[in-house]
Amino acid sequence: MTTVRTGSCLCRARAYEIAGELDGVWVCHCSLCRKASGANGNWILIVPRAQFRWLRGEDHGETFALRQSYTVTRCKTCGTPLPAEVDDANIYVTAGTLDEPLGAGVRAHLFCASRADWDADAPGVRLFDERPR
Ligand SMILES: [Zn+2]
Ligand SMILES: [Zn+2]
Repeated sequence: MTTVRTGSCLCRARAYEIAGELDGVWVCHCSLCRKASGANGNWILIVPRAQFRWLRGEDHGETFALRQSYTVTRCKTCGTPLPAEVDDANIYVTAGTLDEPLGAGVRAHLFCASRADWDADAPGVRLFDERPR
């Protein structure tokens, strides 16, 4: 039986499903991905097109094109960055939009030379299961 996982944006206007196993997450730390994500980079699942299917909201995205080779598509309502269809073979799915566990970890970090100097745990970093009170 094929495993099917779903994903969606924050407001759930857009949703997708991925069939089959994936081998992990690719993290890009390049300067574009840091700015576009507002975080330490983009955490991406590279999904062959045959494994990806929109459930709803396929047309409810707005694509921002910094340049032809670098676009970001966000939900029109909530702004969540969602899968970009940037090449003929694969869909690039933002890993944080998955609704369920992936069953795999990080496969590779790209553009590590551009990694922010704060993108590492400080000595004595505190970990909370939820927000501290
Ligand atoms: Zn949304
Ligand atoms: Zn990048």
